[in-house]
Amino acid sequence: MSNNKGFDFFRTSEDHEELRAAVRAVAEDKIAPHAAEADETASFPQAGYDALVASDFHAPHIGQEYGGVGADALATCIVIEEVARVCASSSLIPAVNKLGTMPLILAASDEIKAKYLPPVAAGESMFAYGLSEREAGSDTASMRCRARADGDGWVLNGQKSWITNAGVSDFYTVLAVTDPDGKRGRNVSAFVVEKADAGFTFGDPERKMGIKGSPTRELIFQGCRIPGDRMVGAPGEGLKIALATLDHTRVTIGAQAVGIAQGALDFALGYVKERSQFGKHISEFQGIQFMLADMAMKLEAARQMVYVAAAKSERGDGDLSFFGAAAKCFASDVAMAVTTDAVQLLGGAGYVKDYPVERMMRDAKITQIYEGTNQIQRIVMARQLLKA
Ligand SMILES: Cc1cc2nc3c(=O)[nH]c(=O)nc-3n(C[C@H](O)[C@H](O)[C@H](O)COP(=O)(O)OP(=O)(O)OC[C@H]3O[C@@H](n4cnc5c(N)ncnc54)[C@H](O)[C@@H]3O)c2cc1C
Repeated sequence: MSNNKGFDFFRTSEDHEELRAAVRAVAEDKIAPHAAEADETASFPQAGYDALVASDFHAPHIGQEYGGVGADALATCIVIEEVARVCASSSLIPAVNKLGTMPLILAASDEIKAKYLPPVAAGESMFAYGLSEREAGSDTASMRCRARADGDGWVLNGQKSWITNAGVSDFYTVLAVTDPDGKRGRNVSAFVVEKADAGFTFGDPERKMGIKGSPTRELIFQGCRIPGDRMVGAPGEGLKIALATLDHTRVTIGAQAVGIAQGALDFALGYVKERSQFGKHISEFQGIQFMLADMAMKLEAARQMVYVAAAKSERGDGDLSFFGAAAKCFASDVAMAVTTDAVQLLGGAGYVKDYPVERMMRDAKITQIYEGTNQIQRIVMARQLLKA
């Protein structure tokens, strides 16, 4: 027998499973009841936010030194997964708090961390992440948003598109070109911008297919002056920091996808045991059973992949880029397939809003698109494969 616990006990720890039970209880009691309304009215899930803050699940990744609970990457994934199982929009609260603050955690000065992480840990503020632009989505290095040195500060001009939790967040990591004549990709720097900064406004909320409770808006900078001490990392390091962030946070999108798929599978399982046609429960038809088995099989494979990637994120393994991209790509495709099959299993009832599976199917789609489309994930995977 080996003494290597990681090998002998290839499963999540008791602590992680206790955490899952605690999050599930909050999610089912406090978040699920508002999920359909957040979707229907496209309004921020405030009740979900309050419940997450009350139970310290709103930004679990922030370290204890900044007033957070210091959850590891796997625990953070479990929080996001369990919230997404009932409400994908609400799961973007912990997910995007991690996305927005990860550049700081990876690269910011102690002063910046000490200033901006505690209010997020306390649930007083949220943190968003502004990388994409209308003309620079997959091709991030072609961004045009500019930050010009001006005395002891910087002046931002330009825009960022499709930014999650824009408007409801107080703080933003914003990537901007600081050296227009510099080498592509090495001419971008990262900054913290505050909602209250003059010259910073928001576009109208996007009208979306899914995750409707999660606000998505443009960030607009018109002569927005920020102090010099707001730069995250060194000048020219911005894109490197932004992409290193995504290596970690794609794993959380994988977790979100797993949660959405689990919610749909759980609902479909309940339905097929109740619904009768041809004089029997539809769960008795082998054609239905095979669908359920395929859904659960794919979902479990996705979950295992996400958890392995989360462990790599926690350890900072050298192959995280591959695993983060693979986990997000695989899990999001599984979420799309499983939610589509869940709608199919409910028949006409699956297509109408009386049941949550059509919402879950619409919500699943975004996991194949944001934090890099699944085509881009394949580029990331291939890059690491060919480097070896
Ligand atoms: C709801 C929502 C929330 C978002 N939240 C945020 C956020 O918080 N912060 C943020 O910075 N961004 C955010 N985004 C932006 C998101 O990350 C981008 O939309 C995404 O990266 C794709 O960029 P694009 O939309 O410009 O698509 P494009 O880059 O125009 O891609 C169009 C198509 O071409 C494909 N394609 C592009 N390049 C290649 C290539 N080299 N090889 C093969 N295929 C390719 C893509 O896969 C896609 O299918 C969000 C988007 C949405 C819709």
